[in-house]
Amino acid sequence: MSDIFDKDLLQRCISCGFCLPACPTYALTGDEASSPRGRITLMRALEPGELAADDPALVEQSSFCLGCRACEPVCPAGVRYGALLEQWRDHQWRGRRRPWPARLLMGIVARAWLLGLQGLARRHARTRPAPAGPSLLLGCVERGLYPGVSRAAVRLRPELAAPSRQGCCGALHAHNGDSAAGARLARTLGGRLPGTIVTTAGGCAAHLAEHLGRDRVREFGEYLAEQGHRPAGEVRVAGRRARVALQDSCHGRNALGVHRQPRQLIAAVADYVELPGAADCCGAAGTYALLRPHDSRRVLAPKLAAIEQADVDFVVAVNPGCLRQLRRGLRGSRVRAVHLAELLALAGGNGPYPPGRR
Ligand code: SF4
Ligand code: SF4
Repeated sequence: MSDIFDKDLLQRCISCGFCLPACPTYALTGDEASSPRGRITLMRALEPGELAADDPALVEQSSFCLGCRACEPVCPAGVRYGALLEQWRDHQWRGRRRPWPARLLMGIVARAWLLGLQGLARRHARTRPAPAGPSLLLGCVERGLYPGVSRAAVRLRPELAAPSRQGCCGALHAHNGDSAAGARLARTLGGRLPGTIVTTAGGCAAHLAEHLGRDRVREFGEYLAEQGHRPAGEVRVAGRRARVALQDSCHGRNALGVHRQPRQLIAAVADYVELPGAADCCGAAGTYALLRPHDSRRVLAPKLAAIEQADVDFVVAVNPGCLRQLRRGLRGSRVRAVHLAELLALAGGNGPYPPGRR
């Protein structure tokens, strides 16, 4: 018997199968091994050594899993699948070289000074630290790719401090088989931002909540709702109120239970359109789109079809990985993907019109 998994977590599954319809990889293959129950069966064979860590089925299924945690809210036994997956990947990658895109990203984001340099090139929000007040997490990916999101967030909520030397939350490490670094980075960040940490990235929010406690962390839409934020203005397209859909953040929804707030905020400034499958993973899933681009596109395809079918003007993301995935997928479409903070700033006349076809 080895010591890979928390035994209580691993034994909690009662093999009922309620999670199968919620799982996007099972939906793609119809194969039990690609389902949460099938993967837990593989973990149970790995634990006593019935299967080796490099068994092809184990390697394939731990990598094919999106880590979206859609299997958690539907599980009657309270299986914490996300925690099991982190323990599985930890074991799998111990002493081995990860794929180079993951190694490169993990190396960059673990260095706070390198992240700070991004602020020189991309003009993200930047304020002095406020020792006890709420702070905005700038995020490793978001501050580089979408610096306008933090600027919009601070324009909407000027009380948020956004110091640039804040580092990475460690979610990237935890999801790629280095839980110890993931926990250490989360604790360091918690020390640098000592009050409530508000984040525009659902994945970072869930990881920080796990390590710093739920009371320290607020997803951006959740924070706005708690503050009684009343969005100003309205988003208009071609002389009418815009039609706007939402793509949930998997971790925001499945791990933190945040889904009502962003919908209400959008509905305050536009005509909200619920997409079929809005809660389903878009295929971005952290490094998944880099490591498994083909599968990532397969997961995304029905979502893009649903967006076009719904005839919306905007689709809102609440996580930078989802925003990148949707923008890439919607190239050439008239539908624009924006972050919730950008949409609300645009409604209030405080934000630029997002790029894309009009
Ligand atoms: S729903 Fe929960 S208990 Fe049932 S098979 Fe899935 S993980 Fe196991
Ligand atoms: S995390 Fe997502 S992809 Fe992985 S088993 Fe659960 S539902 Fe399926």
